[in-house]
Amino acid sequence: MSMIDEWIRQVPAEHCDCGQTHRAALPEWLTGRQITARFLERLSQFDTSHIWLMADPDTYAAAGRHLEQAIRDRHMPISCFIFQGRRPEASEHTVAAARLGVPDDMSLLLAVGSGTINDIAKVIAAETNVPFFVYATAPSMDGYTSATSSLLIDGRKISLATKAADLVAADTDVLAAAPMEAIQSGVGDVVAKAVSLAEWQMASVITGEHYCPHIAGLVEHALETVLASAPRLLDREPDAVEALFAGLLVSGLAMNLAGHSRPASGMEHYISHLWDMRAAALGTSADTHGRQCGVGTLLALDLIERTCRLQPTAERADAHLDRFVLAAWHDELKTLLGPAALPLIEAETSEQKYDPDKVRNRAGRIIRNWPKITDILQSVITRREAIAAALSAVHAPLTVGELTVSEPETEKVLLATRDIRDKYITTRLLFDTGETDSIHAG
Ligand SMILES: [Zn+2]
Ligand SMILES: [Zn+2]
Repeated sequence: MSMIDEWIRQVPAEHCDCGQTHRAALPEWLTGRQITARFLERLSQFDTSHIWLMADPDTYAAAGRHLEQAIRDRHMPISCFIFQGRRPEASEHTVAAARLGVPDDMSLLLAVGSGTINDIAKVIAAETNVPFFVYATAPSMDGYTSATSSLLIDGRKISLATKAADLVAADTDVLAAAPMEAIQSGVGDVVAKAVSLAEWQMASVITGEHYCPHIAGLVEHALETVLASAPRLLDREPDAVEALFAGLLVSGLAMNLAGHSRPASGMEHYISHLWDMRAAALGTSADTHGRQCGVGTLLALDLIERTCRLQPTAERADAHLDRFVLAAWHDELKTLLGPAALPLIEAETSEQKYDPDKVRNRAGRIIRNWPKITDILQSVITRREAIAAALSAVHAPLTVGELTVSEPETEKVLLATRDIRDKYITTRLLFDTGETDSIHAG
């Protein structure tokens, strides 16, 4: 997939005109059709005295069994750890189970799977520090190259710093055979970037946050490619599946290059995180990350459209700030999320985003730069149709009601997105300008 190499080359490693250098050590990637021979060749260049393969029953069937046999045929010692349940969750329980299975003499960890298996494997990789290969089985999310794991610990979703893979491999034919739900998730995770990128650029105007047009351009390529190939994904056409995986991989690499998740996650991701958090805290059901992100993207675009119609004033911003009671807002978060609200509330102690002087300051900058901000936001609204068409093309959900999220509480979730992380997103702009009512207007 030389397309990926070509895109990556467009980001200058040294002296980028954004003022930074982008020298992140990127994982290797090996993609395309019939990659087994090349994969084994690369594998054999590492210590293969005891390869430990981790999979679940589905991913073992999809690729694990074939790989195990191919590795045995090359006389490389291998043992396998297959999770018992069909859809394991990445939690303290599955991590503990995997940890108990790790052989003393493991020389290389080979994770075969997608999101969950990778989240678990990355923890083991970080703890054991052996070479770590990932063999992707679905084009479902952009986390293959990341060095963080999303885990459910004691009923809370947390992000844990772990270890990125040394090599990510993906065989197009394996990816193309993934469940359609996984393909829908992948498309949802990529269309989300339209919002992420616009909010990143918007934040650079309001808070002065660093923004790199080249890294943004990289993700832009990923987005355009997936929008163009989506109509051919339902028939699992190989070049469309390859384009989707390239889009996901490149989004992940863009985060590696930037050193943060800005290029690939914004408000639409926080909507998805909040649904996950609520499901974990309340024991209700959520949907997949990417399907939620797809719907979150359309919700975010609706809100961005309403935002563009506003004409913020200092009077309105001040009046709202006078009425705002932080403790009451924190009580609302607790009602929405239960104990999962506590880290959000604690974050405010160090972040102080609700400090009245800071709010006034930002509101002033927003008002002065309003034409520039609306230009940035308008450019993403024009893509709504193409985004909805891409989601429809793979029969992905377009509305909250089509998701398997049992209690979406959409308005409250939209409001709460501004507290999820320290990123400046649309709902923060609405707060700063005293325009949070726009959320209810939808
Ligand atoms: Zn994502
Ligand atoms: Zn740059």
